[in-house]
Amino acid sequence: MFSRLNGSSFLWKLCLLSLCYLPIAFSHIISSTFDFIVVGGGTSGLLIAEKLSDDPSVSVAVLEAGEAVVDDTTLVPVLFTRFIGTDVDWEFVSVPQKHVSGIQISLPRGKLLGGTASVNGMYFVRAHRKEYDIWEQLGNSGWNWKTVDAHIKAVETFYPASEHDQEEFAAADLPSDHGNKGQFQVSYSNFWQPEPLLVNYIAALNTLGINRTHRASGGSTAGVWQSPTAIKPDNRSRSSVGTDFVLAGNKKPNLQIFTGAIATKIDLNGGISTGGTNHTINLTSRGNVIVTAGTYQTPKLLELSGIGSPAVLNAHGINAVVNLTGVGENLQDHAGVLTTFEIKSGLGQSIEDLIRNATFFAEQEALYVKNRTGALASVPGSTIVMLPIQSIVSNQRLKTLTALLDKALLSFKGTPLEKQLNAQRDLFLDPDVPDIELTLTPGAQDPRASPDPTKSHVTISVITVRPFDRGNVHLNTTNPLDLPLIDPNFLAITDFETEVFVDGIKFVEKLTQTAPLSDIVTAQLFPPSNATDSELSSFVQQSIFSVWHPCGSSSMLPKDQNGVVDANLKVYGTQNIRIADAGIIPVSLGTHTLATVYGNALIAAEIFKHLV
Ligand SMILES: Cc1cc2nc3c(=O)[nH]c(=O)nc-3n(C[C@H](O)[C@H](O)[C@H](O)COP(=O)(O)OP(=O)(O)OC[C@H]3O[C@@H](n4cnc5c(N)ncnc54)[C@H](O)[C@@H]3O)c2cc1C
Repeated sequence: MFSRLNGSSFLWKLCLLSLCYLPIAFSHIISSTFDFIVVGGGTSGLLIAEKLSDDPSVSVAVLEAGEAVVDDTTLVPVLFTRFIGTDVDWEFVSVPQKHVSGIQISLPRGKLLGGTASVNGMYFVRAHRKEYDIWEQLGNSGWNWKTVDAHIKAVETFYPASEHDQEEFAAADLPSDHGNKGQFQVSYSNFWQPEPLLVNYIAALNTLGINRTHRASGGSTAGVWQSPTAIKPDNRSRSSVGTDFVLAGNKKPNLQIFTGAIATKIDLNGGISTGGTNHTINLTSRGNVIVTAGTYQTPKLLELSGIGSPAVLNAHGINAVVNLTGVGENLQDHAGVLTTFEIKSGLGQSIEDLIRNATFFAEQEALYVKNRTGALASVPGSTIVMLPIQSIVSNQRLKTLTALLDKALLSFKGTPLEKQLNAQRDLFLDPDVPDIELTLTPGAQDPRASPDPTKSHVTISVITVRPFDRGNVHLNTTNPLDLPLIDPNFLAITDFETEVFVDGIKFVEKLTQTAPLSDIVTAQLFPPSNATDSELSSFVQQSIFSVWHPCGSSSMLPKDQNGVVDANLKVYGTQNIRIADAGIIPVSLGTHTLATVYGNALIAAEIFKHLV
């Protein structure tokens, strides 16, 4: 979205913040032994390493494929998407999507210390409480809303919005639903242009029965609310495990960070090989290897190490050391489509103008550098709408959708997925639990909408947050430096998933025709307003993109349900390999995943610290 922005001039100004690029460790040949080796110094891995190394008697090494980078892309909120396609993006791409017209979908992920949290959108949000409770119901004792929420609270310090913003923009979480002593600073957007778009959007939602909630961070997410964001309120820059760590510098002698180090194989005795760089690191763990290479790369590393499905391993000539068919299966991701509308001009300059109006950009840059205000200080689109399907369709329509779902679920009877899909069906039928998310961002993001560059636009994304389809991710070749084959398998439960999207789009159309939003929206551009149901279906089947929240590929589930780790996060069939990244989340959550990944990492560190 911001590819035409030139924000690099910020860097020298932000260097007031001191360390901008900090290679933490480098050596040509290193052989050493540690109590813990963490593979992947990303969102989860770096936090776990920090927590374990709080005990000075414990030695911890982190292997991170990327470098320690802090620059304007990682710090300035509005620039977050600029990392896509750069050196700090892994640039994954899906295999052609059978049910989405054969397209290949871009799947960015952070390749730097701190991982994706160093470059993501910073929304700091939780799912509905029942979505965590099903983790326990599926067989993970102790993993439920209460535990995960308590650990999210423990890592955050929340700063409420001003009374004006609480009232005007629904930025009004109950402070008691947040923590106030944690390391990550969590605040609200302070840039709301173009006025009065958001106010009218919220009012139109209210007219349609979608109410504000103050409890979005208290386990009750349905409604319209502002997302708290991991942004420091004093200087309006990112607060994340990686950026904070690099800026502070590593002060612990018992924590060693190796950047530019790609783990290529783990042996069951705890040794790790690395490659892809000009230095060789041979590390051995005394007890435990913690794999946090992310949803897409952890399964590949296990498979390269002989842990996985014999069918997958044999195809690549790898001996199965541990037969574990769940590795890389159960992949889930949020899927979205974009709807584009023209709005009245003269509402004030919007974030859209940052891209096309150099003068406006320069003004906003000056504002940000001078006093940390303006369009650059906040991520766009933080107004979140979470919709249980029951809030947008009639009972009759719900029956039709449920029948379509039940028909599709018949083919999972007796398979390892049956139990989790049934649990998911219960959530779908629960009128408290959201199934669809809407996000509103300024500008026209879908080029097929052919926006008039002299006019103003908004994009409303319709996102399905708990898809029933399941994909997979596996190694592509035995070269550890090759990226894995990723198949999110979007829209595999084709009829049902497509119909849910169509209902979401129709709701958005109705919303934009509802006062007072209708006072602002002047035209529906794409999909066109007169599209028939079948045209909307084909629009959906050509338009799906990933909303960047993949999980499930190393599911924490009983082994017979395609589980890869148990409730202590130990990989089945091994003694010393643990996983703790977003891949352990067994069923996709109706939320953005950052806060949950941090909370889970803290739980993981508490489990692991008893291992030495
Ligand atoms: C563009 C984008 C925007 C997002 N915005 C939000 C948001 O606003 N709010 C939200 O809640 N969520 C957001 N998310 C999702 C969220 O950021 C992720 O779910 C979360 O950061 C994942 O954490 P992780 O620890 O699983 O993986 P990562 O943070 O990706 O960490 C994996 C780490 O492992 C390293 N690695 C991989 N393979 C190897 C190897 N073989 N050897 C050594 N190192 C390796 C990687 O370089 C990386 O640093 C966004 C995601 C994306 C892509």
